[in-house]
Amino acid sequence: MVKLVFYGGVGEIGGNKVLLQDGDTRIFLDFGKSFSRRAYYFDDPFLVPREIEDFLELELIEPIQGVYKIPNASETQKLVDAIFISHVHADHVDHASLSHPMIPIYVGETGRLILNSLGVTRFRQIDNDLSELQFRTFRTGSTLKVGRMEIEPIHVDHSIPGSYGFIVHTSQGPMVYTGDFRLHGPNSHLSWDFLNRAKEVQPVALISEGTNAFATTFLKEKEIEEKMEVLIRSSKGLVAVSFLFKDVDRYRSIYRACKNAGRKLVLSLKHAHLLRSLRNDSKLTTSIPLPGEEEVYFLVRRRGCTYEWEMELSSQLEKMGRLVTSELIRENQKEFVVNLNLFDLPELVKIKPLPGSIFILSLTEPFNEEMELDYERLTHWLEHFGMPLYSLHSSGHVLPHDLKGAVEYLNPEKVFLIHSEEPLLLSKYLSDSASEVVIPEKGKEYLFG
Ligand SMILES: [Zn+2]
Ligand SMILES: [Zn+2]
Repeated sequence: MVKLVFYGGVGEIGGNKVLLQDGDTRIFLDFGKSFSRRAYYFDDPFLVPREIEDFLELELIEPIQGVYKIPNASETQKLVDAIFISHVHADHVDHASLSHPMIPIYVGETGRLILNSLGVTRFRQIDNDLSELQFRTFRTGSTLKVGRMEIEPIHVDHSIPGSYGFIVHTSQGPMVYTGDFRLHGPNSHLSWDFLNRAKEVQPVALISEGTNAFATTFLKEKEIEEKMEVLIRSSKGLVAVSFLFKDVDRYRSIYRACKNAGRKLVLSLKHAHLLRSLRNDSKLTTSIPLPGEEEVYFLVRRRGCTYEWEMELSSQLEKMGRLVTSELIRENQKEFVVNLNLFDLPELVKIKPLPGSIFILSLTEPFNEEMELDYERLTHWLEHFGMPLYSLHSSGHVLPHDLKGAVEYLNPEKVFLIHSEEPLLLSKYLSDSASEVVIPEKGKEYLFG
């Protein structure tokens, strides 16, 4: 008998934790952090969980046997056989930090490079510290056997490189897990590779994300680039832009818009660190403008460099003539486009934006998977400095009509909708398909065979 249990991603965007059990083999598809539940009790960077007991007490994790690193737990308990990570957004990977260190964590090779960089540049907390885990990497074309199951990871297009969907062959037929994906993105052919293979295997179940239901923007990445260029050209002062630094497609669009409009793009040092890590990925399908090779500059924040990696990297970038300060930007505002995220907003005090300066928000709103920007607080800063806000975003997630098309194309017996705040709406929207649409309940067992 095969069993599916959803411990996260139920009625919420992110926090995916899907247990798939075939006989005595148990695997998890993603092991993410739920931002909404965590934010109910905690607020970074000071009010943070410190021990695994905090998560158990506040019911931020579920008492699942043999998966968490629980002190004094019986050594004889059977551990989960493996955790498969679809991509390294925090809502899919971060709770792996709480898993037992003997459980192998499977992640794509690109995702591993990104995690290596984050391990150096981000604040380490109990629920993002992945340093003690046993990672095993895969690429599209790998077939991974775990007990009774065989897992095929296949690349998909999403707003972070190295994203995968999984086809899991079980004793009761193939199950397809989309992770986060889209069909309107610049690399939609990746998602089609996944869907075409998924159709071939005739899945019994499709577990799909359903992020987009309301306020769905339908812009393509190319349109972001074009509109961004128009905005940059028409601005009489500074252009500040906020986007998620792991979104390589967005970085590329913004970079091109700057180049075409004759301005220099300024990024953070942690962005420089990530780009350098990704340079080691020979198979990234499209080229990334790299520090030192292209007209990309990096900002030393007003607090200066405090960490060793920052000091090392900034001295290398300085030798290449790629380092700038807020004072330099202040004197040459019309030459730059500066990436400013939440923690960088105090730089505006030093930059002193001229009249005619603008701010472009190029990430998801109002929710934000990675919680990098607090919208309301941002508006206070922009009011103060007289900077109008433009929103330019293309979603990293499947649009409702594409989801409907994918369900009809794969024609699975059952569709489970997760990673969605509107599963009821989407289930009605999909209800004329031949598949049974299921809105999963947290902790409930769904049995096959
Ligand atoms: Zn997600
Ligand atoms: Zn994601």
